[in-house]
Amino acid sequence: EVTMPRPAHPRIMCVANQKGGVGKTTTTVNLAVALALHGNRVLVVDLDPQGNASTGLNVPHHAGVPDVYDCLIDNVPLADVAQGVEGIPNLWCVPATIDLAGAEIELVSVVARESRLSRAIKSHPEQFDYVFIDCPPSLGLLTVNALVAAQEVLIPIQCEYYALEGLNQLINNINLVRQHLNPTLDVSTILLTMYDRRTRLADAVEQDVRNHFGDKVLQAVIPRNVRVSEAPSYGQSVVTYDPGSRGATSYFEAAREIAERGATENLGRNG
Ligand code: ADP
Ligand code: MG
Repeated sequence: EVTMPRPAHPRIMCVANQKGGVGKTTTTVNLAVALALHGNRVLVVDLDPQGNASTGLNVPHHAGVPDVYDCLIDNVPLADVAQGVEGIPNLWCVPATIDLAGAEIELVSVVARESRLSRAIKSHPEQFDYVFIDCPPSLGLLTVNALVAAQEVLIPIQCEYYALEGLNQLINNINLVRQHLNPTLDVSTILLTMYDRRTRLADAVEQDVRNHFGDKVLQAVIPRNVRVSEAPSYGQSVVTYDPGSRGATSYFEAAREIAERGATENLGRNG
């Protein structure tokens, strides 16, 4: 029996990597669903104008739907734009519509432009156990907003040759945010994704990443698995689409590790 203890305090996790296609959205969606299925109250904030997390959770996000843009630019409360995810009682999503594509530029002239998302989350009256923020593949103001709003950063790393290249830039940005805007921001979690066990390269990348990041790297590794890539076209996560697949079981395992790590100092509120 898999147990996923609820944290004593809300955990706000920014899922970031400026490289596209490394598994940010897939990781966000599957960890969120896995934790919600195990009794956690979870919010997903879709911060990518492409709206893939919204699609993956089957949350309407066509033009005109109230979205995260309205929170960031027009001060609309999070509660007015969050939608319940059908079929998963403890899960909510703040969707992204095409409107968000303009936000990167519009934010430049907005007051307190780096902390708009932080303010929106802090002023939300209800408490979540987890908030996952799915970042776009860039290091612009949207990702900065996510880094300022979060306590933790989760970096998905695809097991391929150039995996570590470009991460310096992300780490530098995280350090800048820490110095100026969010001193306690912690890169708490690294997750290896799209691992292809038939290649020696994947193994070498895994060793590199573990040497570099130590115990921040989850033991669970997400394999490349066709069921993972099929699930979004059914508006589902792989953990609901095919719970027995290797993709699903590894995401359940990753979610359990994250929950256990967050529970070590606060055993008061489990169950
Ligand atoms: P990002 O959000 O970083 O751009 P995605 O999560 O959208 O990356 O993943 C990129 C593509 O790879 C998507 O088509 C997704 O379905 C696919 N994908 C992600 N993880 C896996 C996996 N473990 N196995 C197979 N395909 C995957
Ligand atoms: Mg994405």
